[in-house]
Amino acid sequence: MVHITFPDGNIKAFESPPTGHDIACSISEGFARNCVALQKNGDLLDLNARVEEDAAVRLVTTRDPEALHILRHSAAHVMAQAILHLYKDAHLTIGPAVDDGFYYDIDMEPISEEEFPKIEAEIKKAVKAKEPFKRAAVSKAEALEFYKNEPYKLEMIRDLPDGTISFYRHGDFTDLCRGPHVPHTGFIKAVKLMKVSGAYWRGDQSNAQLQRIYGTAFFDKKDLVAYLQFLEEARKRNHRKIGTALDLFSFHDEAPGMPFFHANGMVIWNELLEYWREEHRTAGYVETKTPITLNRSLWERSGHWENYRENMYTSVIDDTDVAIKPMNCPGGMLVYTSRHHSYRDLPIRQAEVGLVHRHELSGVLNGLFRVRAFHQDDAHIFMTPEQIQSEILSLLSLEDRMYSTFGLGYHLELSTRPDKSIGTDEQWKMATDGLRSALDAYGRDYKINEGDGAFYGPKIDLHIKDALGRTWQCGTIQLDMSLPERFDLYYVDKDNEKHRPIMLHRTVFGSIERFLGILIEHFAGKFPLWMAPVQVILLPINDDLVAYTDEIGRTLQGAGLRCEVDSRAESLNKKIREAQLRYIPLILTIGNKEKASGTLSVRTLDGTVKQGISHDVFMNTVTAAIRERRLDLGLFQE
Ligand SMILES: [Zn+2]
Ligand SMILES: [Zn+2]
Repeated sequence: MVHITFPDGNIKAFESPPTGHDIACSISEGFARNCVALQKNGDLLDLNARVEEDAAVRLVTTRDPEALHILRHSAAHVMAQAILHLYKDAHLTIGPAVDDGFYYDIDMEPISEEEFPKIEAEIKKAVKAKEPFKRAAVSKAEALEFYKNEPYKLEMIRDLPDGTISFYRHGDFTDLCRGPHVPHTGFIKAVKLMKVSGAYWRGDQSNAQLQRIYGTAFFDKKDLVAYLQFLEEARKRNHRKIGTALDLFSFHDEAPGMPFFHANGMVIWNELLEYWREEHRTAGYVETKTPITLNRSLWERSGHWENYRENMYTSVIDDTDVAIKPMNCPGGMLVYTSRHHSYRDLPIRQAEVGLVHRHELSGVLNGLFRVRAFHQDDAHIFMTPEQIQSEILSLLSLEDRMYSTFGLGYHLELSTRPDKSIGTDEQWKMATDGLRSALDAYGRDYKINEGDGAFYGPKIDLHIKDALGRTWQCGTIQLDMSLPERFDLYYVDKDNEKHRPIMLHRTVFGSIERFLGILIEHFAGKFPLWMAPVQVILLPINDDLVAYTDEIGRTLQGAGLRCEVDSRAESLNKKIREAQLRYIPLILTIGNKEKASGTLSVRTLDGTVKQGISHDVFMNTVTAAIRERRLDLGLFQE
């Protein structure tokens, strides 16, 4: 008898060792049809793998998160098969599943996307045939013999430890593979090749250049359609495109990876930071500013010279090695040590929105998302052990409040002690329990990433979710047991003895540049009123109304609004259209009727037009929306 324990704790006995498929069928035939793999004691296996002895088993269905990964890797096999059918000189290397799909690196003549339909048609033949994926265990010698004409596979097999190697076969195609795979090719209901790019074998430029062909696959055609729509929406929201269209920022070869912010971009930047300062003042922070170039001795003390030097910009000044800071922390430690602290001073919440530089490879630079120079909203909180929980709790509510101002949801992840770490068991327990108990008291769900903390302490990461449902890690709360030691930080406690403070680093936005990029895409360039570079534009409908319109414009400017008057001799429709393309939230058209009645006609970007609005109502509504940093425009919107 074999006893199978299900995730809900139920146990079922089988007369003889069952396969995953047998187990699924014992539940129902319908359920079995949607099963793609088997998880046995934590390991993912093919659905037709046999469970030889008692085990904890979970059946992976098409709805489970791992299922898509398995499907896409299976699709990579089918694509490779199609390519071998169509391109006789192609040699396969590796073909993994990745976040949004899969790719296969293939040594072949460069191909273009125009050839994709032909390859997709060949893939569909295999899908239609519902070829089962069959696993075969072979010896290393057999594997070497099988691949004797395939140089890349040979190299991979030689690198494998001695012992059996698994092959996967479907139809006339065989691949060296660990598995698992979906039961048969028919599961690949929707597949699409996405792009092709060059890649080097093993990522090494001195090796052969390969064709990396990307594709994606889904269990359902509807999911592919939704994914393609998502990509189209993301393309429209691309922050580099919007950044150029709205004249927010630019990049130049004279400083690769270092953004140049234009006048419009600086308005948003300053609003963002003003908001940040307001929230931090309220939360009891002080702000500091430290130099961006610091001596080697400091970086040796902080450990950066030894561990992070290849990412730092260095120079020699007056015969001394210096480095441009890649983070604000060491400077922040010097501020703390510049005077004595008593327990009465704690907690000290010391923030710095500092400009940092990190040398990223040019290939990974990506608009504002991945840059070489950026501002980090780091802060260091120095506290006693008793203060950990309350400090983390107030930090979590600060982050929550700030993200909700932008309409961003988020989730929390706690990362615990990694294998390589400094500090004692006792220190780690105190630090991790502190974070955990704060999270529990906070009351929101959080995910635990065991062993994923920094070497110097556990951390909480906040992953925000944008309007397209994409997640971005921005906020982080990291306890640090290293820097207080390295910088010999202390405070004098009630007992008149020196004690090490507990120190944490934290960010809300993370990189301001990256956060701005996320906001541009989240809002699709249509910033809320308080952030908009131009908040109101006034359009007189004829020349006689220009003087009157200018007068209103001056009043609005006097009230602190960013306001423009467009008195060009262009048609009203053209001016409205242009204002809409600049995403100006409020468009006021001034005609004779408005002048005679002393009212305003207000048009918003959603196309709503409200007429007969009194100047007072307009001003009160607009100033309240700005003061409260609202996402909506109240009564001006449907
Ligand atoms: Zn495979
Ligand atoms: Zn820091």
